[in-house]
Amino acid sequence: MTKAFIPPAKPIIGDDERAAVDRVLRSGMIAQGPEVAAFESEFADVMVAGRSCVAVNSGTSGLHLGLLAAGVRQGDEVIVPSFTFAATANSVALAGATPVFADIEPDYFGLDPAAVEAAITPRTKAIMPVHLYGHPAMMRELAEIATRHGIALYEDAAQAHGAELGGRKVGTFGEFAMFSLYPTKNMTSGEGGMVSCATPEIVRNMKLLRNQGMEAQYKNEIVGFNARMTDIHAAIGRVQLTKVGAWTEQRRSNAAFLNANLTGVVIPPVAADAVHVYHQYTIRVREDRDRFVAALKEEYGVGSGVYYPVPNHRLDSLKHFAPGLDLPETEKAAAEVVSLPVHPSLSQDDLDRIVEAVNALAGAGA
Ligand SMILES: *Cc1c(COP(=O)(O)O)cnc(C)c1O
Repeated sequence: MTKAFIPPAKPIIGDDERAAVDRVLRSGMIAQGPEVAAFESEFADVMVAGRSCVAVNSGTSGLHLGLLAAGVRQGDEVIVPSFTFAATANSVALAGATPVFADIEPDYFGLDPAAVEAAITPRTKAIMPVHLYGHPAMMRELAEIATRHGIALYEDAAQAHGAELGGRKVGTFGEFAMFSLYPTKNMTSGEGGMVSCATPEIVRNMKLLRNQGMEAQYKNEIVGFNARMTDIHAAIGRVQLTKVGAWTEQRRSNAAFLNANLTGVVIPPVAADAVHVYHQYTIRVREDRDRFVAALKEEYGVGSGVYYPVPNHRLDSLKHFAPGLDLPETEKAAAEVVSLPVHPSLSQDDLDRIVEAVNALAGAGA
């Protein structure tokens, strides 16, 4: 292989981020402080139409604390997809509740409303869809089901910064919504999570839970964590927030090129009134996916990813929540998906090489 390897993801860290970190380090105040507060309000304005946001030290902490802040307790059930990163169900289990896995719809890889409705029991507290790969889940249908059954709706928006449905931003549908700021996500703070909150009560609970259960020093009201974001991380996030819009446009334009030029594979459908932010550009390869992935890398130097090869309900850590469960669309997706590079650092040469590789391998029946 003479050509340079095209990585499946590439965090972009520039001089502005380095200068911001340096500024905080020189200030001598590096734990949670003014940078975090500024990041929260700027993120709220850019991403979730001004809804109050609370920053934490990871996306997983954001889900965990969000569930607790919204009142999820032991004995409750929360309906989640199995076709997602394990953090979705892990956070439900860590909150002491039971993750109930429902199947996905085949187009956008999100929770299937009919499957969700069938999974509702008297113990169901909430539905927590994932906007997988950056495409919104079917929020209108899920919200209607939640309202009709008197249960809550939350959002795992870890992969969907800036995505929209019907002109409405993801992260504004649920009682709370979590955005991850891990380096491979559409924007990063190093590690971190941001939680968008629908009510002042959830905001207050989040702030208590992230800081030992106290608002005023040594007046602890509840038992809480240390899940605070540092000002160092917030300073990185603030810079990235000014750039993520342009990066998303580049992702969308890269995806449009792939859509127009790939043949022989199933390209990712987009709902008519959705804005897809292409955290991943995920195709389905119907035959011999693993050989396809290996050949992409070895013959063409094209990196790719399989997210996720093992559904959560079959992981050793989570399978006791789902004995005997069969989720056919989840299994099918887990066997077929391949995510191609779509990140904003791709050159036109890179995109051409990705198209050449996929079309040659798909045409060869790989
Ligand atoms: C990344 C991710 C998380 C967890 O976020 P971290 O910041 O890595 O803790 C949760 N859910 C989904 C769908 C993710 O992709």
